[in-house]
Amino acid sequence: MPPSNPLSPERPEDSRFLGVCEELCFVAAWLPRGRHGYASLRAKEFNRQVGAHRLAVKLLIGPLKGEDMALHRCGNSRCHNPYHLYVGGDAENLRDRVLHRDARGHLEPLAATDDSRTSRVLTPRPLVLRKEVSRVTANFTGFTPNKCFHADWLHPTYDGYRQLCRTSWSGEVVGAHRKIHTLFIGPLDKYDIVGHSCSDTTCLNPYHLFISGQHTSHRDFNARHDKRCKLTDEGLDMIADMALRTAELVSKLGLHPQTILTYRRALLDATGHARGVQK
Ligand SMILES: [Zn+2]
Ligand SMILES: [Zn+2]
Repeated sequence: MPPSNPLSPERPEDSRFLGVCEELCFVAAWLPRGRHGYASLRAKEFNRQVGAHRLAVKLLIGPLKGEDMALHRCGNSRCHNPYHLYVGGDAENLRDRVLHRDARGHLEPLAATDDSRTSRVLTPRPLVLRKEVSRVTANFTGFTPNKCFHADWLHPTYDGYRQLCRTSWSGEVVGAHRKIHTLFIGPLDKYDIVGHSCSDTTCLNPYHLFISGQHTSHRDFNARHDKRCKLTDEGLDMIADMALRTAELVSKLGLHPQTILTYRRALLDATGHARGVQK
């Protein structure tokens, strides 16, 4: 039992992060899986399902560019332990397949190492961990209960959370912390509110995340976010173009002037990430 820590208060077994370690796979039993074992999450900002292992790389190791692939050192498609993931391409993928082809046939049955974990997280030990060099120099730096985890390459939401790509949605819809919760702690209902025990809304450490409650009025929640959904990429680009006057945007986009100012303030805060401030 880990020592008690104010940032990772004791929670019931089924809502607690159980940790990841370098040696063992992390297979979340609550995630839906395709035929080949890959889990995926619905990502509203991409309007599709995204592979759990790809999300784990993008959230915890670094951005994927162009033809970059998120590859498994362990050869276990069901795993999204960030220690077992690296960035490569077709050549590395092919070498991985050759290495794991035999091992895959002999991979231990996906059995948990202790009974308390059987229902939620399976942690099989991979037969072989590939040592291929990653295309990105960054490595996963690990989660510890008393230290926040920040991914500086992610974009800010207008309300102070982090997100994978620049959108006009709030953290309660596209927040990176919500994806981390779903990947490493347990499933989320869209009305669930995810809190930070560290009070740092940019933190992605699953030891610090917990479901703090639910939005009681589903109708208000939907109305609030449906309105934001109407803003297209083109609209966002117009807001980011500081040469356009607020009044012009109000008439063209049908937004309240205050909403436009809020977006622009968020863009200015996002130094280095927002196109609008790089001019
Ligand atoms: Zn693994
Ligand atoms: Zn934290």
